[in-house]
Amino acid sequence: RAKEKGRNTYRFYAAKMNAQSTEQLMLESALRHALDRGELEMYYQPKMNLQTQRIVGVEALMRWHHPILGMIPPVQFIPIAEELGLIVSMGKWALEKACADALAWQKHGLPEVLTSVNLSPRQFESRTLIADIKAVLESSGLDPSLLELEITESAMMADPEHAVTLLRAIRDLGVGLAIDDFGTGYSSLSYLKHFPLSTVKIDRAFINDLSQDADARALIDGIITLAHGLRMKVVAEGVETAVQFNYLHSRGCDEAQGYWLCKPVPADEARDFMARHLRNRIVPSVVV
Ligand code: C2E
Ligand code: MG
Ligand code: MG
Ligand code: MG
Repeated sequence: RAKEKGRNTYRFYAAKMNAQSTEQLMLESALRHALDRGELEMYYQPKMNLQTQRIVGVEALMRWHHPILGMIPPVQFIPIAEELGLIVSMGKWALEKACADALAWQKHGLPEVLTSVNLSPRQFESRTLIADIKAVLESSGLDPSLLELEITESAMMADPEHAVTLLRAIRDLGVGLAIDDFGTGYSSLSYLKHFPLSTVKIDRAFINDLSQDADARALIDGIITLAHGLRMKVVAEGVETAVQFNYLHSRGCDEAQGYWLCKPVPADEARDFMARHLRNRIVPSVVV
């Protein structure tokens, strides 16, 4: 009996595994063609300066519209793209598209904003990374100071010496560098002083917890103080409420990004949002 049951459980498990790997294989082969078939799109999420309440930047976020499965979230397809090595070409495309959109907004008459593009650890290993960035800047004509690259702690800590060399080369191009999801990895801010970073992005887990958790607030306060001491700008990600916005403002955090202000939207919508915001300067419900 027990044996029988065990076997059935196993069969069920095997079938489930099969379904999972079939879906995985399907996604893998579809992703190989996603770029060529024009299924990728860049969305943009605005960032607001907490003092001036102006939109000062956008983060470029990749989207994949699969013709049958619909929108597949980055948490699902970015790891596959990394595994298959597709992320290098996809990342280069993202950079080109983000620079082109930034220039189009400028031509449309909008004030200049900083465009931030995420960089995968795999792109970090690519020997052509610096040449690729340089080529994209030259062909687009975007002022390098209007571009920032976001990297995670794990990408830097995998090989810190290599990271320092690469980051210096990127900085020397005039491009800014942000450490993304800060606080979730194992690095310390004292370690960070060795890297030529311009921005620290506080992970949204801390922002999410700040109203219920004094420890989260202590961590946020510490990150802001230390980052400012190292002459870095601080951006809070995942700001969803006025309470969070106000707390960050009161602590001297420089910028906020999150659903409370605006979710990631297609390029045209981002442009319209920025134009509307410029006219009305409406902040959802700030008490300052
Ligand atoms: P990330 O770089 O930390 O990007 C921020 C993520 O937080 C985005 O998820 C964004 O939609 C989400 N977010 C923003 N505001 C809020 C909020 O108020 N509440 C909540 N719950 N979430 C918020 P998304 O777009 O799904 O991207 C997930 C991750 O995928 C990114 O995290 C980044 O690591 C990666 N990714 C996205 N686009 C690219 C890309 O072009 N290249 C690379 N290498 N990675 C990318
Ligand atoms: Mg990011
Ligand atoms: Mg982040
Ligand atoms: Mg994140």
